[in-house]
Amino acid sequence: MAWSTRASRSHRPRCSSATLVEETITANHIDCEYARTGHLYLAYKPGHVEPLETEARLLREEFGVSARLLNRDALASEIGSPIYHGALLVERSGGLHPAKYVAGLVRLARDRGAHLHDHTPATAIESRPGGGFIVVTPGGRIDTRDVLLATNGYSDRLLPPLRRRVIPIGSYIIATEPLAPDRARSAIPKRRMLFDSKNFLYYWRLSTDNRMLFGGRASFAPTTIAKARDWLYAAMIRVHPQLAGIAVEHAWGGNVGFTFDRLPHIGRMNGIAYALGYCGTGVAMSGYFGQLAADWVAGAELPDCWRGGFPGMPFYREKPWFLPVVGRYYAALDRL
Ligand SMILES: Cc1cc2nc3c(=O)[nH]c(=O)nc-3n(C[C@H](O)[C@H](O)[C@H](O)COP(=O)(O)OP(=O)(O)OC[C@H]3O[C@@H](n4cnc5c(N)ncnc54)[C@H](O)[C@@H]3O)c2cc1C
Repeated sequence: MAWSTRASRSHRPRCSSATLVEETITANHIDCEYARTGHLYLAYKPGHVEPLETEARLLREEFGVSARLLNRDALASEIGSPIYHGALLVERSGGLHPAKYVAGLVRLARDRGAHLHDHTPATAIESRPGGGFIVVTPGGRIDTRDVLLATNGYSDRLLPPLRRRVIPIGSYIIATEPLAPDRARSAIPKRRMLFDSKNFLYYWRLSTDNRMLFGGRASFAPTTIAKARDWLYAAMIRVHPQLAGIAVEHAWGGNVGFTFDRLPHIGRMNGIAYALGYCGTGVAMSGYFGQLAADWVAGAELPDCWRGGFPGMPFYREKPWFLPVVGRYYAALDRL
């Protein structure tokens, strides 16, 4: 894939989706604790600093985003952790409470006439003679001109060629008890959102009530919330030793949808439209792709950069058999 196409497909939706989220929240008064805290992309190894510098330049020069590299000394005012070697700082980005944001979107959709049916799986999509589809559910059959699959890391047998191109990977978060203000400040003084450059990355921030929300991909192999919680707690203390002894009050997890080229995809298979593959960054991006897909299904042109192929993997049908091996390989790279 040409460099410029890849850059367009990875950075443009990030920039556009951040703007879309902010506009949607403001215009519709969605109460979801949105704050423009900015984020830091932290270099886990010395060799990760240079690629971050390149990325900062790309963001500035190609996408007009104010982004700069912080060296190890400058990091001291940004994070109370001894383990990182530098960071890319983007000040314009914001964080929110995803469940409250989704609740706001549900309200907007209902107000505009959408019918939402949870706990109603589509079990089959049948092509209708003469065009269109029948979507089969346990509660009834839906006769429709278009179908958009937005099943991301939960894509199932509904559309096997799509399932073969999306890899479900578990991601997990712990939430600590609320921290005293000085302890919270000692960990993340400017309340930024943080993530690092490991393959098995950590991502973390403070909630509005000063809990540390610390997340990561514990393993590419199936695991449990209890194991992920213990693993994340140990990781959090490695990053922020000042949090030793803090209690974990909540832990949860779910699937994110990865693709083989680590880019989101939008298109059609067997006439069925799809938009997915956000590789762990879909809170904002799924809204952007939802809008792109809605316009496209309604007849607008799909931008050129989204017309590329959607790679799969030989012999991958339902079970991502390669994940344990790939996981061990990536974990070894992180340790080196
Ligand atoms: C622990 C964790 C932390 C995360 N942190 C971040 C973060 O900090 N920032 C970020 O941007 N992203 C984050 N993500 C990823 C983000 O949640 C996803 O990218 C986002 O939810 C994708 O939205 P979506 O609507 O495309 O898919 P999803 O929210 O995954 O929704 C897909 C839906 O499709 C439904 N579905 C599947 N099959 C069928 C069927 N046959 N019939 C009917 N429905 C079906 C599923 O039930 C599911 O509700 C995180 C994810 C997890 C699990």
